[in-house]
Amino acid sequence: MSTIFAKIIAKEIPADIVYEDDLVLAFRDIAPQAPVHILVIPKKEIPTANDVTEADELTLGRMFTVAAKIAKENNIDESGYRLMVNCNEDGGQEVFHLHMHILGGRKLGPMLSKQG
Ligand code: AMP
Repeated sequence: MSTIFAKIIAKEIPADIVYEDDLVLAFRDIAPQAPVHILVIPKKEIPTANDVTEADELTLGRMFTVAAKIAKENNIDESGYRLMVNCNEDGGQEVFHLHMHILGGRKLGPMLSKQG
């Protein structure tokens, strides 16, 4: 089942793309939660963190090196940032195409809300 992110990869819908190569794509989140909020996604359709395999290790590593490059380009590498991957319902995942959030540009506060 394709998601909206597959449509962004296929350039069927627009996105503010900040990086692209053979394995990954990065674009600005449509509803930013911080001054810098960018998503890094694999071009391969991997629905959740549960679905990654050893065959994806190069792609997953690329997501981290691209995140570091994007953080530097957005001047949040020294001030700091958060990399986040949500999985399934309890993780708050809304789009079922694996994605890494890069969040920065302000103090992000505690990692989790205090509820529960
Ligand atoms: P998650 O809750 O981890 O699944 O995050 C999904 C993220 O995708 C949310 O932060 C949304 O704001 C973002 N999002 C959904 N649709 C789009 C879109 N068309 N372009 C950019 N970001 C999107």
